[in-house]
Amino acid sequence: MKLQKPKGTADILPQDSAKWQYLEEIARAVFNDYNFKEIRTPMFESYELFSRATGETSDIVTKEMYDFEDKGGRHIALRPEGTASAVRAYVENKLYAPEVLKPVKMWYNASMFRYERPQSGRLREFHQFGVECLGVKNPAVDVEIIAMADAYFRQLGVSGISLHINTLGDMESRKAYREALIAYLLPFEAELSEDSRRRLHENPLRVLDSKEPEDIKVVENAPSILDYLNEASEKYFDDVKNLLNALNIDYVIDKNMVRGLDYYNDTIFEFIVTVDRKELTVCGGGRYDSLVEYFDGPATPAFGFGLGVERLLMVAQAQEIDFMEDESMDVYVAVMGDAANVEATKLVESLRAQAFKVERDFSNRKLTAQFKTAEKLNAEVIITLGDNEVKTGNVSIKHNKTRKEVKTTLDAIYDSFAPAFEELYVEEEF
Ligand code: ATP
Ligand code: MG
Repeated sequence: MKLQKPKGTADILPQDSAKWQYLEEIARAVFNDYNFKEIRTPMFESYELFSRATGETSDIVTKEMYDFEDKGGRHIALRPEGTASAVRAYVENKLYAPEVLKPVKMWYNASMFRYERPQSGRLREFHQFGVECLGVKNPAVDVEIIAMADAYFRQLGVSGISLHINTLGDMESRKAYREALIAYLLPFEAELSEDSRRRLHENPLRVLDSKEPEDIKVVENAPSILDYLNEASEKYFDDVKNLLNALNIDYVIDKNMVRGLDYYNDTIFEFIVTVDRKELTVCGGGRYDSLVEYFDGPATPAFGFGLGVERLLMVAQAQEIDFMEDESMDVYVAVMGDAANVEATKLVESLRAQAFKVERDFSNRKLTAQFKTAEKLNAEVIITLGDNEVKTGNVSIKHNKTRKEVKTTLDAIYDSFAPAFEELYVEEEF
């Protein structure tokens, strides 16, 4: 039987993982600068957590959930997104308590699961960096978090990612807009996709987020929420725009953007980039002031985003970003003969304990083959261990590029390898 990975999943192979680690390292550093701390939540939760959070008519719930019944008869889902879990953890662990400093700023790096039709940039298991900031409502929070995503892209050196923003206003604004949208869509009902015909009555804003070509055509001329904002919602959106201007962050207003999840209000945003003439949303998020209360916590304003790591990697690779992969090796130990095997095992352990990066030969190959491997590994220094070295305790270490050799003993190396290692770099006097 030929075993294959499930459809829509990917292996991140050893030769590729350095790229991931680079994206992760910079994310961790940038999020830390903004005082976000990491949260880790279970990979699976009760189905209801996600169905209630993201909305019964969202794509995630209607089509994409990876759910199953466990042996105890519980309805479980692999997490399709991070916000619901973060909010659940916030409420369950009472992070709303007055003694916990507000805002609570958390980030995560986690795989997400969605039963989608796999294609480029769309997997069934994918990864997100996400951030959530709970407990304070201020347009400066919205802008700080948008600025953080922007700072992250700049740190990585990826370019051409444009920020799209919109507002969904408050409940009152959305209600007024909902009616106007239904009135606009009804005459086109027959032209809409089957999904959107259903959404039209249950949740008409969802129609704006459809990817079906027939729906896209209809919503092209749909009214915009921006014409239905009440004064408070309009002011909030103005404040956000002014703060973005103050930071010189460019944006375009995407007046019919709604985003895929139901819990948003006021500011929503996406970072969009074109790769191979295809538009990719790399990061999306917004404000969700009612979700904590919806999960039986106290009324708590919140803002966050999710950033698709596979998509970011596609962008970074297309833009030939230097991932600064560590392809160095301090020492390669060439091993000849069975007797040297024990000593080699001890030697590499000692060197690693002294914080040198070390590889050795395990296969008793010809010395020339071992030296070739040292070359491939980019080893700086070679130590050759054979019967003679083991017997006398004397070894010579050789710089692989300059060919300079230094004589020392195994005992000296076990004591401290640094002096001999450094001696290899001292220029010869003539
Ligand atoms: P889309 O409109 O592309 O389906 P979405 O609105 O479902 O995206 P979000 O739920 O906001 O996406 O997730 C945040 C980010 O996660 C997206 O902007 C994208 O970069 C990434 N993402 C979402 N779904 C997938 C997937 N199936 N495969 C890879 N990345 C994904
Ligand atoms: Mg989606």
